[in-house]
Amino acid sequence: MKKKQSSAHAHAVEQLLQVAALLRDSYVGDKEVQFDAAINKLREPDQVHETELQITMDDGTEKSFTAYRSQHDNARGPYKGGIRFHPNVSKDEVMALSTWMTWKSAVTGIPYGGSKGGIIVDPRDLSMAELQRLSRAYARFVAPFVGPWVDVPAPDVNTTGQIMAWMVDEYEQYQQETMGTFSENPLATFTGKPLELGGSQGREEATGLGGVYVLEILCKKMGWKKPNDVTIAIQGFGNVGYWFALHAAERGFKVVAVSDSKQVLYDATGLSPRDVLATKKRTGSLTEDSSQVISAEELLALDVDVLVPAALENAITLENASTINAKVVIEMANGPTTPEADIVLENKGILVVPDVLANAGGVTTSYFEWVQNLQGYYWSHAEVLSKLEPLMKQAMTDAWDMQELKQVSLRMATYLKAVKSVVDTLILRGRV
Ligand code: NAD
Repeated sequence: MKKKQSSAHAHAVEQLLQVAALLRDSYVGDKEVQFDAAINKLREPDQVHETELQITMDDGTEKSFTAYRSQHDNARGPYKGGIRFHPNVSKDEVMALSTWMTWKSAVTGIPYGGSKGGIIVDPRDLSMAELQRLSRAYARFVAPFVGPWVDVPAPDVNTTGQIMAWMVDEYEQYQQETMGTFSENPLATFTGKPLELGGSQGREEATGLGGVYVLEILCKKMGWKKPNDVTIAIQGFGNVGYWFALHAAERGFKVVAVSDSKQVLYDATGLSPRDVLATKKRTGSLTEDSSQVISAEELLALDVDVLVPAALENAITLENASTINAKVVIEMANGPTTPEADIVLENKGILVVPDVLANAGGVTTSYFEWVQNLQGYYWSHAEVLSKLEPLMKQAMTDAWDMQELKQVSLRMATYLKAVKSVVDTLILRGRV
């Protein structure tokens, strides 16, 4: 997959301006001026924190790493967004990702704004002890400007529940040192924590399952009556891809292809995601039967009903978009379709369920984790899923209705709803 070439933040701003052009007519009189001020404000994050984190490496040398936290907007609630550990992290990237988090929170109506953070590092180059020191240094950096009612970080690319556990612990120590006590439950400052440390039931599967709830609404709208007639190809068989595949297969959908970074497995009669995972755990590969292996290009071009990119960003590009034959693309990865490829898909009449909607099950369950931490009362697995389902299904239904009302793409419809909600809140608050 190709590395992003243009500025991600410039792309986020361009999207915002396109949405604004469609929304502006519905704001008249004084509201028109406020609307313009709100859009102008939303072009840039509220603040971007940047620092050099210095840690002692195992060999005794000192090394520094550039770290960021971008806080885009908090009109609808505390800033919310993950922390990424990756060599490609940049100020531009965290600014764009924090903007998209503002929209993602608004899509399912959870009371958060948007933020994102990261460190320029390849965690594979660090020992566990170094990783812990770096995670703790990051927690100390953000401690003055995060908190349950301020900004709530979470895992993102290459960050885990273990890393959140270290960060919570460091944040608690910081609070005790600076205030002598806790201002509020520090557990509610970070989500994506392990279950033992205030994590939520259902979080692991929430993103994939949320995508399947979206698929169920889609079937109703498309008139697809029998799940067994709906074929699905999934790129990526990690957390998101596996849980999407499993919950889809359990509901009778026909998952015909899955892939990881090494292999693509295809079986026209339908796969058992559980069996594939067992094979992968046992052998390191999705399959040992070479007759079932196809190429990565072939996966994208399969004649299926639904294609699910669930691996990395920029998977569908100008080069391969014209080969796609699926009727629908459900973007479970973040940013899997480049803007140019998006136009090709639209011209081909392929419906795209955008990432901010399709994978919002993850942040929605993070919200549930925060609620449970704040109330100190924990829900069962079934309770969590029963709360996730209506939010995801309503978000998809709203986007569909907006698409029909405004005669725009589902991506644009989703953004229209999200941006309108943020703008209206800014106006209500009198911030613009
Ligand atoms: P993961 O690391 O668990 O899995 C990624 C999968 O993609 C792995 O199976 C890997 O082998 C595969 N992969 C990597 N390169 C590939 C390639 N070139 N072709 C095919 N497969 C490839 O990651 P994840 O948590 O499942 O996240 C996947 C995507 O979903 C990311 O874009 C992430 O930002 C997004 N996302 C994840 C969550 C979440 O809750 N985990 C929430 C929202 C969005």
